[in-house]
Amino acid sequence: MTTFAELGLRSEILRALEDLGYREPTPIQAAVIPIALAGRDVLAAAQTGTGKTAGFALPLIEQVAAHANTSTSPARHPIRALILAPTRELAIQVEESVRAYCKHLPLRSLVVYGGVNIDTQIPSLRAGVEILVATPGRLLDHVQNKTLNLSQVSMLVLDEADRMLDMGFMPDLRRIIGLLPAERQNMMFSATFPEEIRRLADSFLKNPERVEVARRNATAETVTQVVHPVHHERKRALLVHLVKSRDLRQVLVFTGTKLMANRLANELNRAGLQAAAIHGDKSQQERIKALDAFKHGEMRILVATDVAARGLDIEALPYVVNYDLPHNAEDYVHRIGRTGRAGARGEAISLVSEAENRYLDDIEKLIKTQLVRQPVPGFTSGSDDLVGYAAAPVVAAPTRARPAKQVAALFLPPAGSGRR
Ligand code: AMP
Repeated sequence: MTTFAELGLRSEILRALEDLGYREPTPIQAAVIPIALAGRDVLAAAQTGTGKTAGFALPLIEQVAAHANTSTSPARHPIRALILAPTRELAIQVEESVRAYCKHLPLRSLVVYGGVNIDTQIPSLRAGVEILVATPGRLLDHVQNKTLNLSQVSMLVLDEADRMLDMGFMPDLRRIIGLLPAERQNMMFSATFPEEIRRLADSFLKNPERVEVARRNATAETVTQVVHPVHHERKRALLVHLVKSRDLRQVLVFTGTKLMANRLANELNRAGLQAAAIHGDKSQQERIKALDAFKHGEMRILVATDVAARGLDIEALPYVVNYDLPHNAEDYVHRIGRTGRAGARGEAISLVSEAENRYLDDIEKLIKTQLVRQPVPGFTSGSDDLVGYAAAPVVAAPTRARPAKQVAALFLPPAGSGRR
């Protein structure tokens, strides 16, 4: 087993890792760090939960640390490393990690993202930062305002590149890449490798070393998956019933739309359960407040859309509820990956109406497992129901349904993809 010290990280970084309780590198860290320290470009297939952030941040910090200084002159603190992330939440989390890893070094890091007043970000930028974490749109706003200078950037990281593609950031990314010095090291992390991501990688990575790892906390080991067939009009009542009767706390609920997320959070509050919605239309402050309250156990239920939840790192989240089944089966895997982390047990509960059975079929095909249906008496028909649910058979499959091997496969790109 490799240690962080053997990977060649300086003592200040090792001390920070010790402070954080990181005892040994995760597989992606053990694979990426030596390549990156050798100055090579990296193309990595990795999900949230693998430790990917430290995988790119530690070698980046190690190299930027060569320029660390305590001068107060902004000119001595040019932006040397740029990390791009698709969402504000992810950008904030990445910068928090970077800051923790730099704790014992005189390096400055900063995060800039949209949705907040741009003026508040300018003084810190002007004072100088070595490591900048940004969402693409806001970075370009600053470029346009001439409030930052990218001429000294020697390292670029694209985190969750596939999600940036989904969110329409590809033109922004290409523009940003065009603004950077040609002489630089690049690292690109993505969970999946659709054609457009492969093209982007081909166009800006130089002879990259490819790294693929399975998820650190394989979900099948620790996540129980269950399906409750339910009449579509009874979903909210069933959710309230489950949360109250089982005294569930820290429940992350997924809905298909922002509108539904808002409506459901309001209804849950009316039913006496503290809930908040997070999605793209909420202000940054509202999102941070909701997430903090949820993390600290003051907020029982967080209702989120897929995009808003992406990249959230909430430790040991015990429950994920699919209030609506995702129409894209891979999103199911992403969603339930929010629970059962770090060896903790988790439960993924799906409320499935009859109309959603086709999405359930897709999911079961993807995960190659039939999920257990557990009708809850009283909720399977629109009116009073004691008859039970006839549309979906109760399947006698083991509750812990998915073998680890299959999960690992889900997190790797299909054979041959991501390669030139
Ligand atoms: P990430 O995949 O980067 O979002 O990281 C997932 C979680 O794992 C974060 O909470 C990290 O702080 C944590 N983590 C990352 N690397 C290690 C490590 N080597 N040992 C223990 N925890 C880690």
